[in-house]
Amino acid sequence: LAYLDYNATAPMRPEAEQAVLAAMRTVGNASSTHRSGRDAAQRVDTARRQVAELLNCTSGEIVFTSGATEANNLALRAAFSAGGALVTSTVEHPAVLETAKNLTSETPGTLRLVPVNEDGLVDLDALHDALAGGGVAVVSLMAANNETGVLTALAPIAEAAHAAGALVHTDATQMVGRLPIDLAETDVDLLSLSAHKFGGPQGVGALFVRRGVSLPYRPLIFGGGQERGWRAGTLNVAGIAGAGAAAEAALHGMAHEGVQVARLRDSLESALVEQVTDCRINGAPGLRLPGVTSITFRGAPADAVLAAMPDVAASEGSACASGAPSPSHVLLGMGRSRDEADSTVRFSLGYASTDRDVIQAVSSTVRAVRQVRAAMSTTV
Ligand code: PLP
Repeated sequence: LAYLDYNATAPMRPEAEQAVLAAMRTVGNASSTHRSGRDAAQRVDTARRQVAELLNCTSGEIVFTSGATEANNLALRAAFSAGGALVTSTVEHPAVLETAKNLTSETPGTLRLVPVNEDGLVDLDALHDALAGGGVAVVSLMAANNETGVLTALAPIAEAAHAAGALVHTDATQMVGRLPIDLAETDVDLLSLSAHKFGGPQGVGALFVRRGVSLPYRPLIFGGGQERGWRAGTLNVAGIAGAGAAAEAALHGMAHEGVQVARLRDSLESALVEQVTDCRINGAPGLRLPGVTSITFRGAPADAVLAAMPDVAASEGSACASGAPSPSHVLLGMGRSRDEADSTVRFSLGYASTDRDVIQAVSSTVRAVRQVRAAMSTTV
């Protein structure tokens, strides 16, 4: 199987696997004061430092969660509870969009959705208009889009949002571990991540909360007050240890992996564009994550294309919300038609992708698209 679905989840890095197993083999609750408890707490401390190093922030600014979904929920809930409006974009992951809709549902007019252009870039004029309305509690914009890989220039957005008195949150789930993030330089207040996107275990993530930011925190889970009250419950020591080890490995490999992944993605894209007629790459050229390509094969529904190439793991729109047959809100938000959105495949590569994966994906995709188009033309 050529695995090109890293944006859904990346294979576990060997370093993460080892850290998970080692932590699982020891007994001890990270809150206990005896030696076993201290051992568990030390694994958590190490992981907190490793994740903080990946982001260039301090350990005390990291709150471990069950993933980016929970981190997004926590961030928006806390920031919005100060009162005011919530500004976000139309192409966010459901973990932000649905949370934003839910939080603002009882106070009409408090959700301000900013559109994107046909390249998937946030409409800055619309963002400034949303801020000019005043009373904005939080601006939440994703660092990199999960379907297209399109990147958001966070620095000018954070500057404008702060000037308007708003907090800034970014869902950086797809960017963390793939491109450098420097929180000493990027002035966001809150950032969400999920370990399994960069080679850690599934079910672990973190929320960065900048020190000194005044935030009326509102936990989702009440109990023993772990994670400085942000999230009660016995810590998932093994998962957290795996997240830390993956963060360290991702930081260490980032420069090299980034170049390799970009080369493979570019060769996949150019081969497909050359060999398949009537296709289009979605997302701003040069402003995308190195490992992602979203390609529309006109006249070839993506579900049929994927079914016709069982030797390739790729996805139709966003696999995070799979099961739902609705068209991608990201592509519709970029002005694509429903047919175009339905005929789009996302390939996402990562640290362990190889030339062989790309060669296999190209030959299978070319064959599958031709086959599906031929079948469609006979049915019409
Ligand atoms: N945000 C983005 C941009 C994502 O791509 C994903 C998962 O695909 C999430 C949030 C949710 O992450 P998790 O399911 O690990 O909580």
